Amino acid sequence: MNLALTQSDVTAIRSRLAIRGQAFIDGRFVDAASGETFDDISPRDGKAIARVAAGDAEDIDRAVKAGRRAFEAGVWRERSPKERKKVLQRFAALFEKHMDELAVLETLDMGKPVSESRNIDVNVVLDTLQWYAECPDKLYDEIAPTGPGQLAMITREPIGVVGAVVPWNFPMLMATWKFAPALAMGNSVVLKPAEQSPLTAIRLAALASEAGIPDGVFNVVPGFGPTAGKALGLHIDVDCLAFTGSGEVGKLFLQYAGQSNMKRVFLECGGKSPNIILDDVPELRVAAERAATAICFNQGEVCVAPSRLILSKRIQEQFLDIVVETARSIRPGDPLDPATKLGALVESSHRDRVEGYIAKGKAEGARLVLGGDRPDDTPDGYYLNPTIFADVSNDMTIAREEIFGPVLSTITVEDDEEAVRVANDTSYGLAAAVWTRDLSRAHKIARKLRAGTVWVNCYDHGDATVPFGGFKQSGNGRDKSLHALDKYTELKTTWIEL
Ligand code: NAD
Repeated sequence: MNLALTQSDVTAIRSRLAIRGQAFIDGRFVDAASGETFDDISPRDGKAIARVAAGDAEDIDRAVKAGRRAFEAGVWRERSPKERKKVLQRFAALFEKHMDELAVLETLDMGKPVSESRNIDVNVVLDTLQWYAECPDKLYDEIAPTGPGQLAMITREPIGVVGAVVPWNFPMLMATWKFAPALAMGNSVVLKPAEQSPLTAIRLAALASEAGIPDGVFNVVPGFGPTAGKALGLHIDVDCLAFTGSGEVGKLFLQYAGQSNMKRVFLECGGKSPNIILDDVPELRVAAERAATAICFNQGEVCVAPSRLILSKRIQEQFLDIVVETARSIRPGDPLDPATKLGALVESSHRDRVEGYIAKGKAEGARLVLGGDRPDDTPDGYYLNPTIFADVSNDMTIAREEIFGPVLSTITVEDDEEAVRVANDTSYGLAAAVWTRDLSRAHKIARKLRAGTVWVNCYDHGDATVPFGGFKQSGNGRDKSLHALDKYTELKTTWIEL
């Protein structure tokens, strides 16, 4: 394990990677029942890096049946909490041993800079695995305050078979936020990774098995959304479906539940997060640099990306100059180069989509102050320069729709009231930030913001201890923290007349 990978480390790790593209069902690697596979393309150069099993309804059914068998047999849920903790700790330790390899694999598969996958993604995954590994034998149930003639116990039980469908932007992390708490509570899991980035999820399932998670408890079925994803959403024997992805697909999962068994559906969908900079911002340069680096982080393919910069008119010129200067210095490059700060967008069609938004921004009258074009000195992959718009009004398409690229929309405001009104004028409610040196001003604004997370004088901070999720159409339910366990457990009341 090596925190700062050099180019020669990356090259060596890459040459050693044993990439497997099969599904992992019931404790073993298997091909799709149909025998179908698809090419997994690396966005860094547009070349195929693996053939991946194209799982569909039959494979999902096999995985769900394996999960159900394991659940009914009690091979995991009936292990004592302490034993489950030990297996999950072993899983975390094995993951830690393979972090360099997994970071390189993640970068190769979805295009984020290897410095980010190594210094951020795998560390946060490890923290999540370790945190939930500690949960099983630390949670107590409840005794209700009934009269002296009764004993009423309120106990948590695992819900059963949990389906998880995740996106490509943080493939390992989004998956871990679902399966770690689900496994900690004794459930079986069937995970469907995104078709653009299935490789690390498959590797994680094999590591879990090596750590001692019993066969059938943790299954991964790669495949496409409208086939494998839909089959999981519609499966009659899946008890809970945890989804992260677009709102459009999130709504489909609600329909799938209605068309099948009313499984519980938890959604983490998109965002259009406001980053409010007030005229008394404590360190203007720090805030401006952060506005630029945060919109470029992970190529802007971040559900909490600060894509609406809501800027006090009094400091607009000074602030925007620094944002532009910082963003200009973030040059796109090969994500496998440890010096790269901005990698490749996940696929060609996604870059086209982001460019479509840039064209719309121009057509609707926003002023392009940086970028909007492709770099000319990168390999053949899907690169795009950091792009900044000024003079955006909140009713323009680039202020309303999630772009999921390194594209910033700057909206100027007169005062706090207007800042809050603009910030909340969106169908999303995932995250928001406010920068001010006045703590009571910060508190007042934080209370008024309709978002699952509000940052004050920072952006995108957090750890496993705090819940994460959205208000409004950003979703329901929460990942991370003890609150995530509510999704994967049933509450049972046992009432005893004494
Ligand atoms: P997506 O909704 O297209 O795909 C997400 C997953 O759903 C993938 O596994 C995909 O295969 C599957 N899917 C697609 N169509 C399906 C269908 N018809 N039926 C069943 N499953 C289907 O999203 P994406 O493009 O992979 O990811 C980007 C989106 O994810 C953005 O909107 C982003 O904001 C969101 N996201 C949200 C969070 C959060 O925590 N709120 C985190 C990361 C990403």
